[in-house]
Amino acid sequence: MRIVIIGNGVAGIEAAITVRNREPDWDITIISEESDHFFSRTALMWVMSGQLSHRCIEPHERDLYARMGFRRVRARATGLDAEARTVSVSGGEPVAYDRLLIACGSRPRPSPWSGGDLPGVGHFVTMQDLEWLEREVHGGPSHGGRPPNPDAHVERSEVGSPYWPREVGATKRGRRPERPAVIGGGLIGIEAVEVLVHAGLRPKFLIREDWFWPIALDEAESTWISERMREHGVDVRLGENVEAFEGGGALEALVTDQGRYDCDLCVIAIGVVPNTEWLAGSGLELERGGIVVDEGLGASADGVFAAGDCAAVRWVDGGRRPEQLWYTARDQGRVAGRRLCGDRAVYDRGTWYNSAKLMDIEYTTAGLVSMNVEGEQNWFHEERGPVRSTTRIVLEGGRVIGFNLLGRRWDHAVLIRWIEEHRSLEYVLAHLNEAAFDTELVPPLVIPERAKKQELSGVAFSVAPGHMPAPAVRG
Ligand SMILES: Cc1cc2nc3c(=O)[nH]c(=O)nc-3n(C[C@H](O)[C@H](O)[C@H](O)COP(=O)(O)OP(=O)(O)OC[C@H]3O[C@@H](n4cnc5c(N)ncnc54)[C@H](O)[C@@H]3O)c2cc1C
Repeated sequence: MRIVIIGNGVAGIEAAITVRNREPDWDITIISEESDHFFSRTALMWVMSGQLSHRCIEPHERDLYARMGFRRVRARATGLDAEARTVSVSGGEPVAYDRLLIACGSRPRPSPWSGGDLPGVGHFVTMQDLEWLEREVHGGPSHGGRPPNPDAHVERSEVGSPYWPREVGATKRGRRPERPAVIGGGLIGIEAVEVLVHAGLRPKFLIREDWFWPIALDEAESTWISERMREHGVDVRLGENVEAFEGGGALEALVTDQGRYDCDLCVIAIGVVPNTEWLAGSGLELERGGIVVDEGLGASADGVFAAGDCAAVRWVDGGRRPEQLWYTARDQGRVAGRRLCGDRAVYDRGTWYNSAKLMDIEYTTAGLVSMNVEGEQNWFHEERGPVRSTTRIVLEGGRVIGFNLLGRRWDHAVLIRWIEEHRSLEYVLAHLNEAAFDTELVPPLVIPERAKKQELSGVAFSVAPGHMPAPAVRG
């Protein structure tokens, strides 16, 4: 049996390991354009800030491929012939499969503005983006090392690929940037801001919306994050629309609907889209770029499956779109691996959760938050004392359906259990500290009686229809 997997990310590698653990003799080929080794994309910022090396963000030993007998093809997949069961790769012979998994992830949403291809303008999503930003900001690797074979794909890649090396504005200009900017108010945007602050720069952060990350945070929660960014010297500019980049040989200025700013480095973080443009003409059913899959992650062609950021799965609201999260990509990869083995496995993401750090503020979410569930009510408490935190609990029909928590660390497994047990607000408030994580050093959260009995508000804020993906959508 010939298994071919496109993608060396978490979905692809989890699938490959699942198959190998079951089928020691099957042929497994992994095609990846971006990197020789699987790495944790979520940890790119720690490499950029010099706190981890490239090797540190590779979860497996580098001999995994040899040990597991994975054939590795470092090239760009350029097309799929689902009838002939072959994948064409740039600069090589087509690769034949009996069963195929497409786990080709996301690419950054490209700049809609003129000048977006100037040296000095880039993204922060791929290994090649990391290298570009390291060279812009530090003049070279942040941690005294490069990934192995970073450019091995170049002959088998193409301009316009998300893994194509970008030109460095600092090299053209002959000096490092002094006036950086980040565009886009989501998680990748705030990570880009953080790494620039860590490098001693004071970026502008341009956000089109009225507050940072409205898809996940309400106004009060978000205002706190903006305040914290400003304390770190970030020029947070809300409700401002970018119109163009300007420059001769490299980026020199950024034009918005409110002014023209000198700017010599810009990270565009306006979201990610499925990396599936190479499938045009393959006949595979796509929806908004995502590969449409059934509940077992089967795509619309026989023997073809999709998992991770590129797979459009069914959501609780009935819509189909990718989930774009690390743990859902991992779980989908495991299910897809079982499908590749011939099992009748089904993907069920269960109650969803996510956690992150927004600057130095902890963030945990679980369940249905910001989903505009009909009849939902929100309970909100802001703590201002030795610890600053916010607690938002979402209710529907008297039972807790979601949590949005800032400023303290919480154990999402406990929060999920309460949601699945259909607990009441009174129960959750009485037991909340059982979900606390940092119990040794952080005093327990004390909620005043009058706050417990507050009048509940309706939907905390409104998101336009069609913009309802759950909180962790990156951008
Ligand atoms: C900066 C950043 C921070 C993040 N932080 C978090 C976080 O805190 N929490 C969280 O849950 N999620 C986070 N995410 C999202 C998370 O990283 C992704 O959801 C996850 O990595 C998706 O995994 P994947 O395997 O589907 O795809 P990817 O990791 O994108 O892997 C795609 C693979 O496909 C290959 N590929 C793509 N196209 C082709 C082609 N045409 N030919 C050959 N190979 C191809 C690439 O080489 C790559 O190996 C973050 C993302 C970014 C960018």
